[in-house]
Amino acid sequence: MSKNNLLEKYKEKRDFSKTPEPENNGPITEGNLFVIQKHAASRLHYDFRLEINGVLKSWAVPKGPSTDPEVKRLAVETEDHPLSYANFEGVIPKGEYGAGPVIIWDTGTYTDINKKDGKLISMEESYKNGHIVINLHGHKLKGGWALIQAKIAGKPKNWLLVKEKDEYANKPENPESLDKSVVSEKTLEQVREDYESKNK
Ligand code: MN
Repeated sequence: MSKNNLLEKYKEKRDFSKTPEPENNGPITEGNLFVIQKHAASRLHYDFRLEINGVLKSWAVPKGPSTDPEVKRLAVETEDHPLSYANFEGVIPKGEYGAGPVIIWDTGTYTDINKKDGKLISMEESYKNGHIVINLHGHKLKGGWALIQAKIAGKPKNWLLVKEKDEYANKPENPESLDKSVVSEKTLEQVREDYESKNK
């Protein structure tokens, strides 16, 4: 299957003559990119995306990540996104899928640390097993994180995002208070205002 076919669901949902979101997959990366986009669609959420096999596997996290290892955050799997989506910050216009402002809340690389009997399990295998364990090397989020498929009957898309216990646990204590883009340093509100002032 080609990369374009892999993004079929992504393309079906969008009209690229209307949305500024990217249509194509590039750029080529090191293979371990992660991004968390804060997105004020009809409901505010954080889109957690991990590069696996040439696409961004994606989960919508309504409450955002918690750095408290005791707190499990619901992460609902969404359609694969192109790698170029990691650079997207802007406003999805009214009437389009996911309408509303998006900021790059955190980004960086990740390291697979999921081991079984001392052997590293590939990201592809971890994803298939519904059990991902990674170190994040972000601006805001660092250290170990797990994404675990909840395995609730009839709800295969429900996963849980949990901080691992390490020196980065509870740091920062309130990640949701860090509300600016790590790229533009704008808040969602500023991105929306910029767009509205240009589209009067
Ligand atoms: Mn979203």
